[in-house]
Amino acid sequence: MGQLPPEQYGLYKTLLESTKAIPWKLNWITKEFEYIGPQIEALLGWRQDSWKTAQDWIDRIHRDEREDTANLCITQSDCGIDHEADYRALTASGGYVWVRDVVHVIREDGVTTALVGFIFDISERKKMEDVLLRLNKQLAALSFHDGLTGIANRRMYDRSIQVAWAQAQNNRTPLSLAILDVDHFKHYNDKNGHAAGDECLCQVANALNNCAAMRPTDMIARYGGEEFVLILPNTGPEEAVDIAETFRRLVANQRIPHPGVGVADVVTVSVGLNTIIPGEEDSLQAFFEVADRMLYRAKSNGRNRVECAGSKRIFAIN
Ligand code: GH3
Ligand code: MG
Ligand code: MG
Repeated sequence: MGQLPPEQYGLYKTLLESTKAIPWKLNWITKEFEYIGPQIEALLGWRQDSWKTAQDWIDRIHRDEREDTANLCITQSDCGIDHEADYRALTASGGYVWVRDVVHVIREDGVTTALVGFIFDISERKKMEDVLLRLNKQLAALSFHDGLTGIANRRMYDRSIQVAWAQAQNNRTPLSLAILDVDHFKHYNDKNGHAAGDECLCQVANALNNCAAMRPTDMIARYGGEEFVLILPNTGPEEAVDIAETFRRLVANQRIPHPGVGVADVVTVSVGLNTIIPGEEDSLQAFFEVADRMLYRAKSNGRNRVECAGSKRIFAIN
């Protein structure tokens, strides 16, 4: 700037010092600041003349980012590479402000002689990023939960069954799957109204969910409508029948009135069950379809019951 005519020097100084970003220049040989914009005082509260050496800069970086930021700056500067870094800068009053430092490296004869840069205030952007991050986490949690009942949803089931299937395949352990369907639920809605139907589904879902929580690896999800799926990893056919029976009884024991149709005067479920030790040639879809066929059989055999496919292959292996 020293070589500029005075009127141009004044123009550039005005331009630099009227921007929101804070300009600076560091002599890389002496590691002393030759210039720092007066805006530093408005942003961080530090007086311009307190910004003397590279060490002053390093000392005013938040401890968590200090080492990485300083190391990045030193290595890139020595190599002549322009760079930028986000860090929390200490304010004179002891607080912190998120800033982005954008650095241009000046070299002479292949040697770094100076750095010039701008410090930008990015605190608003950081706040927004934090909000977005939080919202994203909430969204992720919501997208795996059923909106009505609050238990795991179909999406969660799809993911979990894939994992359970792969584990069973790798470890050669049995995997059981139960599909539970509320009996004569259309009639329940017709008689009591859709809102009461919703309430009933919530009560059934809650009871099933509490029961599934008894064994940490079991998982129940609302598959859709009035259908639920229960994943029972590491569970052979006999144990699976016992567990499915427990769930069936649990629903009946809620004693939600449902007179007029069916075998009981209360809300009940029918359950289709299948068990497998999946081999390479087995398909998850076929496994599910058999459980679904068992559910159909439970319906046609009178509802409020468990029907199990069993599998000769499993008994043969065991
Ligand atoms: P089945 O014993 O053969 O299963 O008879 P069903 O009446 O339960 O079977 P169907 O599939 O004919 O009817 C299911 C009913 O579930 C129809 C639909 O109105 C009701 N349903 C599905 N989702 C919901 C929901 O979210 N809320 C309410 N209230 N009802 C639902
Ligand atoms: Mg159904
Ligand atoms: Mg039904």
